[in-house]
Amino acid sequence: MEANPHVIVVGGGIIGASVAWHLARGGARVTVVEGAERGGLATPRSWAWINASWGHPEPYIRLRMQSMAEWRTLQPEVPGLDVNWCGGLVWDLPDAELRAFVAERAAQGYDIRLVEADEVAALEPALSNPPRIAAHSPAEGAIEPLEATMAILADAERRGARVISGQPVDRILSESGQVVGVRLADGLEIRGDQVVLATGATTATLAAQVGVRVPVDDPAGLLVSTKPVPPLLNGLVVGPGLELRQLRDGRLLGSGHYAGSDPGTDPDAVAAALLDAIRAGVKGGERLELHGYTIGHRPVPSDGLSIIGPAAPGLHVAVTHSGVTLAPVIGRIVAEEILTGRRDPIADGFGLDRFAP
Ligand SMILES: Cc1cc2nc3c(=O)[nH]c(=O)nc-3n(C[C@H](O)[C@H](O)[C@H](O)COP(=O)(O)OP(=O)(O)OC[C@H]3O[C@@H](n4cnc5c(N)ncnc54)[C@H](O)[C@@H]3O)c2cc1C
Repeated sequence: MEANPHVIVVGGGIIGASVAWHLARGGARVTVVEGAERGGLATPRSWAWINASWGHPEPYIRLRMQSMAEWRTLQPEVPGLDVNWCGGLVWDLPDAELRAFVAERAAQGYDIRLVEADEVAALEPALSNPPRIAAHSPAEGAIEPLEATMAILADAERRGARVISGQPVDRILSESGQVVGVRLADGLEIRGDQVVLATGATTATLAAQVGVRVPVDDPAGLLVSTKPVPPLLNGLVVGPGLELRQLRDGRLLGSGHYAGSDPGTDPDAVAAALLDAIRAGVKGGERLELHGYTIGHRPVPSDGLSIIGPAAPGLHVAVTHSGVTLAPVIGRIVAEEILTGRRDPIADGFGLDRFAP
């Protein structure tokens, strides 16, 4: 690979933004092609909790922990990138399982410990039904996902990347088994040394054009937000059937589950039930009013783990759930592999080759 290859990154969500940023910083010539608006589809509809509490097995937890560390190094490098390291309080498990979970994560080197009622009350005095015990991780945080993605993309542009939006890629161009570029819906062809698909669930359809199978689904997740209220929560709270955090503008953002609530066939009813749960979950909650709800489609590889790396000559893929948590590490891994040929061993087991028959 030449020293400054031209890399086409398809997708302008948080994964594409991070891949583009790491490539631009590493000296590549980068073109980002986003079919809709900058910022992604799943990304702006995400609860956006940065954590290694969620998920299995251990290599995946390690990947998440590494990415949390890389958020901390990315933050000062990207103007306007604001990560709220507010900590997370989790008690969505029966007591014995919660204790075992804390012991397991702590043994893996995660900054987490059990807290009891008095500390819970000090951390989150607004909870109306505080748990007797909870897991507290001060290392966790959250972003405003659309703003953060815009900031990363803008800094990639300052570093020389070109961003085209409102132009879907309709064809991956391939010659003699080598991917050589993309064709946009308006017919424009862009040629490059490498193409990276950071296109969420659409990755399956695009990759199939060149005979590559990327097993990824796109289940829907619903989040409810309230109208802004004065400061109520200090961090992220994850209890049984309700996770809640307060956005910078004062809105509370809630979900029934880490992956968002299932919108089912009557999302209005699901949102109303979630609002009731939010109202019941915090002191004075009866005052809370609905701001609105969103339904996002999460890209979820079939085994739940990230797919990172080469897919065919000239083609890389970067598709994952928990992309908010994982964007920094995935962006760096893909960029390093393209620019140096070296694959960070932390990515072992996360290649597309694990699905090979
Ligand atoms: C309800 C919900 C809650 C979540 N909670 C969390 C959480 O707490 N923590 C966490 O870490 N993660 C969470 N996630 C997951 C996280 O948001 C996603 O993993 C992440 O946003 C995926 O980013 P992405 O860039 O891959 O996808 P996207 O944001 O969907 O971006 C993909 C982009 O590719 C573009 N694209 C697609 N096809 C083409 C084409 N042919 N040509 C050009 N462009 C194309 C799309 O327009 C889109 O902009 C949640 C997701 C949801 C929906």
